[in-house]
Amino acid sequence: MKNPDKNGFYGEFGGAFIPEMLYPNVAELQDNYLAILHSDTFREEYRKLLRNYVGRPSPLYESPWLSARYGARIFLKREDLNHTGAHKINNAIGQILLARALGKQQIIAETGAGQHGVATATAAALMSMDCKVFMGEIDMARQAPNVERMQMLGAEVLPATSGSKTLKDATNEAIRYWINNPGSYYLIGSVVGPHPYPDLVTRLQAVISEEISTQLENNFGQAKPDYVIACIGGGSNAAGAYYHFIDDSEVQLIAVEAGGQGIASGKSAATSQLGRMGIIHGSKTLLMQDDYGQITEPYSISAGLDYPGIGPLHAHLIKTGRSQVYSITDEEALAAGMVLSTHEGILPALESAHALAVLEYTRFKPEDIVVINLSGRGDKDLQTYLQYHKNKHK
Ligand SMILES: *Cc1c(COP(=O)(O)O)cnc(C)c1O
Repeated sequence: MKNPDKNGFYGEFGGAFIPEMLYPNVAELQDNYLAILHSDTFREEYRKLLRNYVGRPSPLYESPWLSARYGARIFLKREDLNHTGAHKINNAIGQILLARALGKQQIIAETGAGQHGVATATAAALMSMDCKVFMGEIDMARQAPNVERMQMLGAEVLPATSGSKTLKDATNEAIRYWINNPGSYYLIGSVVGPHPYPDLVTRLQAVISEEISTQLENNFGQAKPDYVIACIGGGSNAAGAYYHFIDDSEVQLIAVEAGGQGIASGKSAATSQLGRMGIIHGSKTLLMQDDYGQITEPYSISAGLDYPGIGPLHAHLIKTGRSQVYSITDEEALAAGMVLSTHEGILPALESAHALAVLEYTRFKPEDIVVINLSGRGDKDLQTYLQYHKNKHK
């Protein structure tokens, strides 16, 4: 169940629904990605860069404060300590190596909040590759520091000026560019997009669950946790944190979506509850849409969870009951992030704070081993946290 079938389907979700002109580009990837990922050269180089450049393995930290408060052994998988401050770099480095193995010289990507753009620009700089990042004009204004960061890293940021001037317009521009420049490599940032991207990104992020398993075994004599909890935007940090445990039904998988201002408020990104089957970004999955099949704008206080779809693997895990899904509101995430900051000295990304907030809704046994994937650090969210704190104490 953790890998798709040969056409890229997880049950009824996934596949590659792409315009004919894109077919050669996608077929080239489909035909080659597994052989390259399994080659000794790739594996060695990927391992080496994860260790020496990204700083892996990331620590698995047992939090005394959370453990005491929630009555279980609670561990944080510290993806926030990676170079560039989140899990996204694991994927960017892996795909850059894949691009190079395919003989590509130029990287293209689209980004919403800019976090994937920064990870891609970082990896491209490392490999001295040309990098173009498409970004909605409105997002560029909202996320100006990330635009500057990408430029500092040598990437060219191209504004998408059509439609709503946000992520989906940037995606359209990137795909158009890819069709016209088949020599470029399209680097997707989550477990979304046409087959093979969801599987490719899952396998690259699977280093997270591989490490969790080894760290638990070496330090606590037990390779399996009882629970793995992760937030879901497109679903890459969750897919990576789950991967090695998916086929083991004793490990409970918990998926956390952004409820925004509440599921029924019209301002939410809780795709699995609000979404219906449709096609987004070349993949058949659950997505938020109106009665005419037009994608509706999602909302979350955390930019990384503000995505109208969900990766096909997660749609399948949720639909079959293998993972259990919760939605957490802006307010709950802000509170959970403040708590971790003041009691553990760890300022989490607002995305990761959604995963932490689920602890309020779950009941554990004292001996349970609970792993929360702390997907990123919260420096980027400082202003949002401080504003919340100020309003609360007015
Ligand atoms: C982008 C991002 C996410 C959401 O993306 P996934 O693909 O669902 O993991 C979560 N946390 C952080 C810190 C991010 O930057």
